[in-house]
Amino acid sequence: MTRTVYPVNVPEAALGRNSVELRQVVKVHGQGPTAVRVLDGVSWGFPRRTFTAVMGPSGSGKSTLLQCAAGLDRPTSGSVSIDGTELTTLDETALTRLRRDRLGFIFQSYNLVPTLTVAQNVTLPMEFASRPIPAGAVRNVLARLGLEQHTHTRPAALSGGQQQRVAIARALLGDPAVIFADEPTGALDSRAAAEVLGLLRGAVDSGGRTIVMVTHDPVAAAVADAVVFFADGRVVDVLHRPSADAAAARMARLADGFAERGGVR
Ligand code: ADP
Ligand code: MG
Repeated sequence: MTRTVYPVNVPEAALGRNSVELRQVVKVHGQGPTAVRVLDGVSWGFPRRTFTAVMGPSGSGKSTLLQCAAGLDRPTSGSVSIDGTELTTLDETALTRLRRDRLGFIFQSYNLVPTLTVAQNVTLPMEFASRPIPAGAVRNVLARLGLEQHTHTRPAALSGGQQQRVAIARALLGDPAVIFADEPTGALDSRAAAEVLGLLRGAVDSGGRTIVMVTHDPVAAAVADAVVFFADGRVVDVLHRPSADAAAARMARLADGFAERGGVR
């Protein structure tokens, strides 16, 4: 297949001031003739204390990008650093520790443990990591997320928006420098989505965190400081101070190009 050449390239000099940096990250799934190059040499920096949305056609590699950036998956080649720590050189134990101490994760499916209460779900990663939980921290984070009435409730009794707020509380309790979110509002109605997005925005503006969020929704993307557009395993465009309309227009253009190329990589 021919590969479209895109105009966007990050100058190497622009890298270095970022919380999360990817340099020439390649990820190949499978081997031989069936091998798929899911990430095709991604170089990108996510500046500290900013909120970046990642948009792109389904199958373009967004989740893989997030997994590699967050140290949940290892690139085939290239390097990733978080606040100056090179992930690709860490062994599994050190990588796990870095993830637990520095990073937070939020997924579309909430990933709560159904048999545990809200408070137990929120404290679980800290307990796994044997990290001390400061007195009052759980109550504070639940109050901040409007969940104080639900401390002892189990996830099944909560709405989708409430469950995602539990997942955010769980991420925030660990005081992460960076939060990675993969379609966090994908299963929510627009009102619950707006609440969740407001909480994430606050985690950047008041909490000083860095957020990288994959989303399909231009309205969600408009909450971010910038939208990075992804196609065929590469960054192909970026929009600063996005409006929902502008994000939607760029996505539509990208999807057209994707369909013209047969929707395959
Ligand atoms: P997106 O999140 O943009 O929809 P993904 O990162 O999930 O895209 O997937 C990108 C491509 O990589 C898809 O073609 C998918 O089938 C493939 N892929 C993802 N994970 C694996 C895997 N573990 N093994 C093989 N192929 C994979
Ligand atoms: Mg995905």
